[in-house]
Amino acid sequence: MTETETIEIPAPLQGCLYCHTEGSITLSEGRKILGFGSGLPTLTCSSCGSVALFEAGPTPDSWRIRYKSVNKAPRFYYVMLYLGKAGWLTAEQALEASRNGYVQRQRIQQAQRGDFSWLHPAPLNPPPPLMSHDENVYVTVNPVTFQQAMRAGSVLAQGEENVLDSGRFYLTDKKLHLLGHRRDWSHKLTDVQRIEHNDEYWRVYVGESEQHYQGTNLPDQIDAQLFTTIVKMLCRHDE
Ligand SMILES: [Zn+2]
Repeated sequence: MTETETIEIPAPLQGCLYCHTEGSITLSEGRKILGFGSGLPTLTCSSCGSVALFEAGPTPDSWRIRYKSVNKAPRFYYVMLYLGKAGWLTAEQALEASRNGYVQRQRIQQAQRGDFSWLHPAPLNPPPPLMSHDENVYVTVNPVTFQQAMRAGSVLAQGEENVLDSGRFYLTDKKLHLLGHRRDWSHKLTDVQRIEHNDEYWRVYVGESEQHYQGTNLPDQIDAQLFTTIVKMLCRHDE
């Protein structure tokens, strides 16, 4: 490598993949200090503060990126999971996660405004047992589990859950439905006690006994933050 060799930032990386600000990225040459460090250049965003290692490939489109530090604000939930925590990503993987992250952020804002048109809510024909003909289905998730949280004196260890059933789950404008392997379950939105999510899953608690529906964050399914935002807004509608 000659001293005058410079690295060009590929066009898609001149805007931030993480927060989608244009022209916010600066590249700094990598350095090895006393043999430590990767020696790879880093990309830093002046808008969200994310820092990523960048590795150019043999062609302009074959770069790789790995985020070293990212902004953990709630609005970056999706990109934190699929860019920030993903390790090395190819250009294709990183651009797809970035596009999905942009759409997810728009969907959260739409849901918070009470705009659910993008979910194309519609009744099922025929509706499954316990669902009425005039219920509009907003979200379908498969699989979802129905669980009982640990109770005092239980033999289950802290954090362990007793799975009561699992199956296909429907969120409608009136109810939560689970077509379980053992039976069908149904709760009104007015039965919802609390709603929570973390990096791995969402939970909707119903009734008095800490029973809850739980869905896992999977790349091909609605993410936990977006799902819980929709449930919260539908519960508010229903009040
Ligand atoms: Zn950024």
